[in-house]
Amino acid sequence: MRPNDAGQVPAVVRLPETREVLAALAEYVAIPSDSRNASRETMREAAAWIAGRLGFLGARLEETAGNPVVRADWLGAPGAPTVLIYGHYDVQPTGRLEEWPSPPFELTVADDVAYGRGASDDKGPVYLVVAMLAAMFEQRGALPLNVRVLLEGEEEIGSPNLPGYVRSHADALACDLVVSADGAQWRPDEPSLSVASKGLVSCVVEVTGAAGDLHSGRYGGTIANPVHALAAILASLHGEDGSVAVPGFYDGVAPMTPQRRAEIAAVPFDDAEYAARIGAPGLSGEAGLSTLERLWERPTLEVNGVEGGGRYTVIPHRAAAHISCRLVGEQDPQHVLAAIRGHVEATAPAGVRVSVEQVGGAVPAYRIPDDHPALAAAAEALRTVYPGQEVLHAVIAGTLPATTLFEEVTGAKTLFFSFAHADENAHAPGEFLRLRRIPEGMRAWQALLEGLADGPHRLRRGGEQEER
Ligand SMILES: [Zn+2]
Repeated sequence: MRPNDAGQVPAVVRLPETREVLAALAEYVAIPSDSRNASRETMREAAAWIAGRLGFLGARLEETAGNPVVRADWLGAPGAPTVLIYGHYDVQPTGRLEEWPSPPFELTVADDVAYGRGASDDKGPVYLVVAMLAAMFEQRGALPLNVRVLLEGEEEIGSPNLPGYVRSHADALACDLVVSADGAQWRPDEPSLSVASKGLVSCVVEVTGAAGDLHSGRYGGTIANPVHALAAILASLHGEDGSVAVPGFYDGVAPMTPQRRAEIAAVPFDDAEYAARIGAPGLSGEAGLSTLERLWERPTLEVNGVEGGGRYTVIPHRAAAHISCRLVGEQDPQHVLAAIRGHVEATAPAGVRVSVEQVGGAVPAYRIPDDHPALAAAAEALRTVYPGQEVLHAVIAGTLPATTLFEEVTGAKTLFFSFAHADENAHAPGEFLRLRRIPEGMRAWQALLEGLADGPHRLRRGGEQEER
């Protein structure tokens, strides 16, 4: 490590004050980089702003077919492992302005939170890492390990150009671990690490009958009704016990280990409170499992919408349902789709035609193994900030395609290390970041990087061997 002007490497890094972080974050939030609606210039302005803050690492914009990515590399720690820090500079649309407590692009502190679009997803969490790295670099003249940064500008629209960029820059992105500053901790009161995310595959089931809608009097009772047929098919997708009744659906799903069940059972969780919070009259799902077990460890098949007919006295000629499955373990999205197709064809009543077509991309589930050193190093880092608290292994029940992409291209697993929380209205009006996460997040990131470089759970360098 390089000494500073005083001739020593300072052991303690003075991290910026919360108010300094807020002042900078306010500038960043003020650039309305809504990737669904903003101009290319606005998107570039946001990219350039955060690249400017990473100037000490030589940050630059690199072009993609869409919005540019922000890239930086500091490889001044020979022999040390390399981490790739991932995040995004784009934000969701604001939604209804009247539902915001303050203008969405004016970072506004109220009580113990800061409101603003991107405060929690993902400008705030990314800026915490950047501010910490800048302080560390300024005071020590070096980082404890090699750091690459990749911030994309299209995460909120499904990252259409990330796969192309990552695949064509495999060598430049070589690393031993990806650390994502995106994602959220599960609850504000318990430090947690997300160890898995669910896969996703979607399809449309279409049922057709006659060539056009028919008079329900003149033709009623003589032909099959596609809406009835669809209803019967949809009803057959789940068993009485709430499990998915499609043969082959669960292939690749391992039974939960007693250890994992015990771990989940130890998480304080109140079904009634959960139901009340979402305004539901009660909970439902697979029998014999707790709510958290179903949410974190089990795959699901959901009918997202149905269409067909209307308020007319006709026999509709077409009915359709949109279905999505969240996958776990080794479930193969294409196998799941084929299983659904087979089940729909086998269950379709006589007199209708059925089809099952995939919609959108298919993403397998992702998991970082429980014994990966990055998890131990991250837990250690969280314990330095939240002493005496157990670090929970949580699951992101959503889908994060970037994880599988990074693993495919770099061979590296992704660690989620975000100081946002699931309840901070990300994507909704009134998005906020908790102020105490600012110092906590910076300290934890510092502890993480130091731990990965040189702690008891130091990251092994694997990049070289895995590169061909
Ligand atoms: Zn995000």
